[in-house]
Parts: sequence; structure tokens; C-alpha cells
Amino acid sequence: MELKTIEELKEILHYLPSIGLKSAERMAYQLLEMDEITLQNLSSLISNLHKNVTVCPICGAYKEEKCFFCDDESRDNTSLIVVTSFKDALAFENLKSYHGKYHILGGNLSPTKGIGVNELRIDLLLSRIEKENFQEIILATDPTIDGETTALYIAKLLENLPIKISRLAYGLPMGGHLTYADELTLLRSLEGRKFLK
Ligand SMILES: [Zn+2]
Repeated sequence: MELKTIEELKEILHYLPSIGLKSAERMAYQLLEMDEITLQNLSSLISNLHKNVTVCPICGAYKEEKCFFCDDESRDNTSLIVVTSFKDALAFENLKSYHGKYHILGGNLSPTKGIGVNELRIDLLLSRIEKENFQEIILATDPTIDGETTALYIAKLLENLPIKISRLAYGLPMGGHLTYADELTLLRSLEGRKFLK
């Protein structure tokens, strides 16, 4: 015996990462017990999500009115951290020791997942490097095979430019994602970064 609406809600909640069917069902029933105003607030936040949170056309970060990174004039505009995802940029921000700019690729190169150069914001990165005044590019893609491949690919593209290129130091758990590294590990990997040239 199933309520059709609860079933549909359950299916959608189950799309969220790490929400199994059982948890999705529990969440659906919890929603049913919420008051009308909370439910309306929730539904309006969700339906306006893409209108209110957009992707910065310069760096690829999520933004509301202003981009945390591109529209902040107090930032050091001579250094750029290249990351896989917006959450990785936030992980560096939380360290409070880096005050430069970011570029969010939107993924890693991965032949097995069909993610090629055109799926990532690599062209945009190259045109930024041409236009802006970076003196160092820190390649901080994930410590996975795909992340390494991406970092090496970008390093090769930048080989002949008169800019310092560095890669995060090892010590990060290989195969993991930056977002889940603890702050001390991330800080050490940033401070101990290796210069590729
Ligand atoms: Zn931006």
C-alpha cells in the first residue's frame, strides 16, 4: 500500500547523493508533517534555485548577485587556483590563508566518463590567463588519476608562458576528493606545493 505522491517524492529525494530509498521515504513522510508555510518556503527556494544561483561566466563559481571571487577587489589578482568544483574552492577559502582568485573547471578530464576538454572550462581558463595578470597558477584538481591527468594537461598547455605553475603537494589521500580532506592536510598541500616550472 503506497501513497502515489509519497512514492513520487521518494523517487526524487532518492536522486540526492547518499540518500537511499529508506531515507528518502522517511524524508517524504517528514515533509508531510511540516506546516504549510515551511513547505511553501522550501518549494519556492527549490523552484527559484536556478534563477537565484547562477554560474559566474568568468570563473565558473556559483554566485548570487556578485561572484565571491571575481567581484572582490581586495583579492590578490596575481595568483589563481584551478579546482575541479566550487566546493573545492570553498575548502581553500575556509583555510583563510589564500586570498587570490579561482577558476572552477567543472570536472576532470575522464575518457571513461566521456568528459573531454570541451566539457570543462579550459578555454575560459586560457583566455583569462591571456587577459588577466596572473604570476602563478596553482593546479589543485582532485588527487585522483583523472585529476592528475587534468593537471598535467593544463600544465602542458601553459608550458611556454612566463608564469609559475605549481601542483598541490602529495600527502592528500590519493583517490579522494579535495573537499573531504581535512583543513590541516589541505593547508600543508597548498604550502608545500611543487613548482612544475
Ligand atoms: Zn567569478
